[in-house]
Amino acid sequence: MILKSLLFPTRQLCYLCKEKTPYLKSFTCLECNEKLNFAYKEVKIDSIYVDRTFYVLSYNRFLKELIHDFKFNGKSYLYKPFAEFMINMIRKKDINNVDIVIYIPIHRRKEAIRGYNQSELLSDYISKQLQIPISRGNLVKKKWTKEQNKLDRIQRLDNLKDSFFLKNPEEIRGKRILLIDDLITTGATFNECSKILKINGAKDIIALALTSSKTI
Ligand SMILES: [Zn+2]
Repeated sequence: MILKSLLFPTRQLCYLCKEKTPYLKSFTCLECNEKLNFAYKEVKIDSIYVDRTFYVLSYNRFLKELIHDFKFNGKSYLYKPFAEFMINMIRKKDINNVDIVIYIPIHRRKEAIRGYNQSELLSDYISKQLQIPISRGNLVKKKWTKEQNKLDRIQRLDNLKDSFFLKNPEEIRGKRILLIDDLITTGATFNECSKILKINGAKDIIALALTSSKTI
């Protein structure tokens, strides 16, 4: 093992397939990179509260499975390549002058079951790498809601209504916010969170997701 690591000192593990590779880009091997569909897209969601919305990757079967593993199979380490992709997008689209990073919260009971909030992991990494402060535990989800993807559009809006709560409005007043989530399903979650942030004095909201299953 020692000899092998001396012979191949640069070989590292791809975070997506766990294979050893001599070349890693954003913690991802070339083969996995090719299976991902980088869109770097700005989209319009149905919201008067969100100023701009972006997502990085087009939704495909490969990514769908990865996101499922990220959220439901304990593969929390996937935040690293995913957040790197999001940082690439932030740089590509010149998203700057952001004052604070905020993640979409999940209910504390859901977080207890999962062991983490995937959007918080993404936000933590982005915050550290770009040296933007993170708001933690201020925006909270107080209502237990059903999984958005099991509902139709009307049910989704109703499901989320009044489900978020801001503990300390002072922290976000007059701020330009980067709001982070893993997946845009309809945009309803970004809308609800942005609504409460704007009502409490947020100046601008840039919503950024890893991907979008919404057909636009
Ligand atoms: Zn790979």
